[in-house]
Amino acid sequence: MAPDLAAFDALCDERFDRWVDELREFCAIPSETDQFPDLERAAGWVEGRLRAAGAEVTVLREEGVPPLVVGELGTGPRTLIAVQHYDVQPAAPLDLWDTKPYDPSLRDGRLYARGVCDDKGELLHRIQAVEALRDAMGELPCRVRFVVEGEEESDSAHLARLLAQRPGFFEGDGALIEGGGVDEKGRPQLVCGVRGMVYAELSVRTLGFDAHSGGAQLLPNAAWRLIEVLATLRAPDGTVTIDGFLDDLASPTQEQLDHLRTLPFEEEEIKRIYEIREFVGGLTGRAAQIADTFRPTCNISGISSGWTDAGVKTITPAEAFAKVDMRLIPHQDPARIAEQLRAHLDRRGFQDVAMTVFRGEHPYWTPIGDPMVDAAERAHVGIFEERPLRWFSAGGTAPMHQVCAPHSLPMVTLGAGDPEVRAHAPNESYSLDLMRRAIRVTGRFLQEFAAIEA
Ligand SMILES: [Zn+2]
Repeated sequence: MAPDLAAFDALCDERFDRWVDELREFCAIPSETDQFPDLERAAGWVEGRLRAAGAEVTVLREEGVPPLVVGELGTGPRTLIAVQHYDVQPAAPLDLWDTKPYDPSLRDGRLYARGVCDDKGELLHRIQAVEALRDAMGELPCRVRFVVEGEEESDSAHLARLLAQRPGFFEGDGALIEGGGVDEKGRPQLVCGVRGMVYAELSVRTLGFDAHSGGAQLLPNAAWRLIEVLATLRAPDGTVTIDGFLDDLASPTQEQLDHLRTLPFEEEEIKRIYEIREFVGGLTGRAAQIADTFRPTCNISGISSGWTDAGVKTITPAEAFAKVDMRLIPHQDPARIAEQLRAHLDRRGFQDVAMTVFRGEHPYWTPIGDPMVDAAERAHVGIFEERPLRWFSAGGTAPMHQVCAPHSLPMVTLGAGDPEVRAHAPNESYSLDLMRRAIRVTGRFLQEFAAIEA
């Protein structure tokens, strides 16, 4: 082991208890989406922590938007951008938590709190790793820029605009994104992409008011109307049938399909966890694994209309609503998909259906053979016994296209999550053992990253 790594590891051991205390302090701030004074407090906490680590900090502000905190440390020809966030998902429903979400609790080697994994733990352990490596080596082997936003859990709607104040913040050589960690068998994972997203609300009003259902032979029912609309968006086998939706979809290459064969696909385990007998469309084995990785979706997230409380109320509803999310795969474009959806509805005579698009995010996938992914793999040597698995993409969405696309930066995860973290759910937690290891991996990664030949 290089002497500076031995010094780095020693510092990690020495500081670990203090690092956990810092994480508890950070997680005690209830920086939920739209909770402005608390979002400001969390931003201030991040600003202070970055300054304490010796970073040069810039806080970008815009009226009514949680501030974007950018902190930069180190010098050198190569720059790594760490994209993180200090906002958290609402903790409700509170009665499903075993301990209070903003009173962090340590049990069985895990810290429990809202945001402890997603994304406060990960943000903080990266700052801690960078600081410890700098202290161990005297200087960092590369420049590290933390870009920490406060509206990731809502929609990152202002990230591009805030960053546009300083276009130089996009410049760099690679990005670390949130997520990743180990799978249910403890194998480390490197996730190299994120899906895009279009989130739309569809609503229809067919009557001036809810009517007596004795008139249903002539009075148009909003619930039926919306069901007819939704049924045109997707086939029962899961294929999205919005006109043009699949046009820009890149088909998987032979190389991608070959790599997919080397990845585990725990079909029976997934079915057991979700208590299902079959996947959508009855897919099994290889076909299910391919769909899992390369198939874009059109998902109904919520639907409401008419009387759904207890007892009988025979009405013909006047209004119906549905929320629909579509997860996109390269090279689908969210703005184009939104236009295609509107045109699809109009072409079928559904001009009366109103559509509001809340969120659009491009997909962004880095090739799994990128030198930065190789560097991330080497950083695991000696910390994990198994070689990391390389995944094409997370199922979820993050604003990586906004950050990485302007300069085609490669990106990868280097996380400390595991299947127990319950991100976005009650009893969110973070394994202290994985945090300890992830800090060591991050320090090693900075050295590997700095050594990549341009
Ligand atoms: Zn997150």
